[in-house]
Amino acid sequence: MKQKRLKCSFCFEDESVCARIVAGPGVFICDKCIQKFYDELQYEGLNSNFSEFQNKFPTPRDIFEFLDSYVIGQEHAKKVLSVATYNHYKRVYLSKNLESIVNKSNILLIGPTGSGKSYLVKTLAKCLQVPISLNDATSLTEAGYVGDDVESVLSNLFIASNYNLEEAERGICFIDEIDKIARKQDSSSVTRDVSGEGVQQALLKIVEDTKANILPRPGRKHPQQDYIQMRTRDILFIVAGVFEGIDKIIDERAGRKSIGFNSSLSENNLYEVNTEDLIKFGMIPEFLGRFPIICQLSPLSESDLVRILEEPKDALLKQYKIIFESEGVELIWEKEALVEIAKKAILNNTGARGLRGIVEEIFRDIFFECNFDVIQKVILTKNAVLSGCPEIIFKRKVAYSK
Ligand code: ADP
Repeated sequence: MKQKRLKCSFCFEDESVCARIVAGPGVFICDKCIQKFYDELQYEGLNSNFSEFQNKFPTPRDIFEFLDSYVIGQEHAKKVLSVATYNHYKRVYLSKNLESIVNKSNILLIGPTGSGKSYLVKTLAKCLQVPISLNDATSLTEAGYVGDDVESVLSNLFIASNYNLEEAERGICFIDEIDKIARKQDSSSVTRDVSGEGVQQALLKIVEDTKANILPRPGRKHPQQDYIQMRTRDILFIVAGVFEGIDKIIDERAGRKSIGFNSSLSENNLYEVNTEDLIKFGMIPEFLGRFPIICQLSPLSESDLVRILEEPKDALLKQYKIIFESEGVELIWEKEALVEIAKKAILNNTGARGLRGIVEEIFRDIFFECNFDVIQKVILTKNAVLSGCPEIIFKRKVAYSK
């Protein structure tokens, strides 16, 4: 008996024109229809994931506004980070359905000491509610040398996530002082450059997509300690450095005469930095290839520093106000006092990093010597900053001497 020719029950194509027909109970489907339905499911999955992402995840503008409530100035960096992290996490969400639609975009921050590089990244992690590990490139070495293996930055992330591997695998890994592992210019030296190029090479492996074996507690290499496998595909790596001297390299490339670090021209030309300059500085091309987003931070001005003292949600003076209030004492400050503190910080060349030390020194004696029961108010005036002794208004007439 002649066998009946099969037809796809969906597109009615004859089996003679189909590469493959699959039979079910009373129905048939051809390879083309299978592919078509698969694509549709993928598309729907992608869309539902995208709307889940949109519901759960802040928009670039939300991220920017969150950063803005803590970080003063650095508008360019705030914008770059908001967009880059949004795109990074979009890729993480959507990759469930569609692997590698977008390449991973790790970020390189360049800016002076105390301009807010680490603070921006810490605030970003707070905004996105993801774990963050804070690391210093100078403590890293190639495997086999004394120091921390590069995998320790992942162990730190695992610890920061409270040992939740899934969360750690979507966290942020921050590595500061990345400029300190630049290749030495005089590579002719006989001694091996253990802290430079080798570490960059070692980092290459983990920043892209690998399954790294990490020790749950870095440093303790115990034979019995089991390794944990951590996938790095969805971890956002952000590295930062001052890159002192890069201004000269930029000027040289642009055919300009450099007028030295810290000059206003040099500050502006940081925005012109490109990979060529960074390679000349000593970063290896493969490493820079993994950090396609380069973002510059500007030095903070006197007025930025004044704002940092009193404006952000966690501003130093707001914190002191709460501490004084808990003792029943009112803290008041005058603008000129803040300008004086900012001037001191600029003289020290430590950006906003130096503010805390200056303010702590001003208030130290009050905390050490005074009985808060008799104090009504503490006033921070310009003179108080210059003399290091704030004005005190007592409840009753009690003498205060420093
Ligand atoms: P960097 O990493 O650039 O050397 P940090 O981010 O460590 O500097 O800054 C040190 C501290 O100074 C931060 O913890 C933060 O309190 C304060 N700070 C720095 N920059 C800013 C800024 N732009 N806005 C608000 N606070 C800042």
